[in-house]
Amino acid sequence: MRLVTFRSEDGPRLGVLTEGGLVDVADCARTAGVELPPDMRSFIALGDRGLDELEVLLPGAKVQPADDLRLAPPVADLTKNAFAVGRNYLDHIREGSRARGEAEVKLPEYAVFFTKPPSSLIAHGEEIQLHPTVTSNLDYEVELVVVIGRGGRDISAESALDHVYGYTIGNDVSARDLQRAHGQWFKGKSLDRTCPIGPCIVPARYLPDIRDARITLRVNGDTRQDARTSQMIYDIPTIIHQLSQGLTLDTGDLILTGTPSGVGHGMTPPHWLAEGDTVEAEIEGIGVLRNRVAAGVPDA
Ligand code: MG
Repeated sequence: MRLVTFRSEDGPRLGVLTEGGLVDVADCARTAGVELPPDMRSFIALGDRGLDELEVLLPGAKVQPADDLRLAPPVADLTKNAFAVGRNYLDHIREGSRARGEAEVKLPEYAVFFTKPPSSLIAHGEEIQLHPTVTSNLDYEVELVVVIGRGGRDISAESALDHVYGYTIGNDVSARDLQRAHGQWFKGKSLDRTCPIGPCIVPARYLPDIRDARITLRVNGDTRQDARTSQMIYDIPTIIHQLSQGLTLDTGDLILTGTPSGVGHGMTPPHWLAEGDTVEAEIEGIGVLRNRVAAGVPDA
């Protein structure tokens, strides 16, 4: 089940991508005399009930061609920052230490958290902005993204997966020079329209093997990152447990879970993203998140 948010004349709407094309969820429900919401967040809030109803409706649903489909980020109305975990794959920590010339590799004692504003997010198929006037070191990072279903606070690791609605893919594009210059990650990882998310959300119940899935990233067809999600230092239950201590997670919140090794910063010499590059982030069971790099500076 691949849930998407697509752009329509009436604004972003919830759809399902099937073999034959796109199903408009609210339309398909109305035709069948039931009611399902037209937006992703409200549908996520229904939990299993929404998916149960959709499973019944889909076989008879009207399917539209998806050739000209324009997607929005899966949770299009994000009103607060996406959460993110840094330094969560050992090989990526090693390559970062090497690139900075550090002799010792320091492992984080707790998960390292930062956030990314909604203005940084773009959809599958939209252009990553290069921001050449503020950075010359733009880099990629493929990440598994957790989508929170039932919100909560002080969530135990044992019950954490009950709060996960599903998963999508993120590309935590990072301006390495800004990260260094500002001594903190937020600025370098928050530039407007630099963080692709999508293409779809796959609900957790259809992804039993996501905690050991292949995660890869290609630039112009050249594989740069190739790992498995089981290589995370802090697994998903631990991330949710630590992040939610004294901090409320809400329905539709996103958590990027860190990137494996192979980033451009770790190569000798470093390889930065350039105008015209095509970046494909892929996770087994979810799909491919594809974006081109544009040279422009986005409108303010
Ligand atoms: Mg990252």
